[in-house]
Amino acid sequence: MNSSGRVVVVGSANVDLVVDVPRLPGGGETILGGQLRRSPGGKGANQAVAAARAGGADTTFVGAVGADESGDLLVGSLEWAGVRTDLVDRVEAATGTALITVSPDGENTIVVAPGANTHVEVGAAQANRIAAADVVLAQLEIPVDVVQAAAAARRPGALMALNAAPSRDLPADLWDALDLLIVNEHEAADLAAVPGAPDAAARALLRRVPAVIVTLGGDGCLVAERDREPVRVPAIRVEAVDTTGAGDTFCGVLAAGLARGLALPDAARVASAAAAVAVTRPGTHTAVPTADEIGALETVSGTTSEP
Ligand code: AMP
Repeated sequence: MNSSGRVVVVGSANVDLVVDVPRLPGGGETILGGQLRRSPGGKGANQAVAAARAGGADTTFVGAVGADESGDLLVGSLEWAGVRTDLVDRVEAATGTALITVSPDGENTIVVAPGANTHVEVGAAQANRIAAADVVLAQLEIPVDVVQAAAAARRPGALMALNAAPSRDLPADLWDALDLLIVNEHEAADLAAVPGAPDAAARALLRRVPAVIVTLGGDGCLVAERDREPVRVPAIRVEAVDTTGAGDTFCGVLAAGLARGLALPDAARVASAAAAVAVTRPGTHTAVPTADEIGALETVSGTTSEP
């Protein structure tokens, strides 16, 4: 392993088109909203930005965008964060686009036109880069067979992590290929088919995968590994202004920590600190802190000690 660790993120890249609305529209209704905001997003791109910028990992993003201006915006943002973009394909489809409305109380509606994200591929060049990675991180905004191909391409001993968002049924051989599952409370309950307490869902999921993290928003996260006592990592208390992408920042920084050899609970503490900084800032890519900013917060709040 090199000193910073190598991460390959395989996933989606979207342009987010966001409008604030006085209330969410009903079926067949037209309402006037505020000014249109346009920003780079998509779970895959967000997580790659976090792994590189906040996690300091040597990070490659494997994804696809259109040969359009939105594609330029995404590639530019990934490069700004220090992500390698040579394996981002420019394809003959529009860049993935998320249409988002946000109400004054923070409720939202999101419709995603996946576009280029349905064209992500693991060919020879992508498989080679994946085979050199310490950690491979994927999500479910791209076809599941691409996630399976990524898992199959990793070298023995490298870690395959899946952020199962948005949640959907997973094929049995993908379950078998996973080393780590990262889910929020809702996704955990869906996948485990166990409603209610996250601990019960995590216990059920441990029958299928060796390690599970359930993120709990402002309540932190639960780190569960087979044959170990579960560890609860508290969130750092902050004044949240925009929680969009908190989970993505968490996943990217977690992958970077694991790639440089941190134990899972320690990597979760650093990831939690990074996500706490991110929620104090608007936006997604530009909200991701640098590694130095996280270090300062960890020292102040003492998150490096055992809970
Ligand atoms: P979520 O996807 O909302 O569960 O959030 C992922 C992670 O981001 C959590 O496990 C926390 O570490 C962090 N986080 C989310 N919301 C907040 C918040 N309001 N304050 C501090 N940290 C947060």
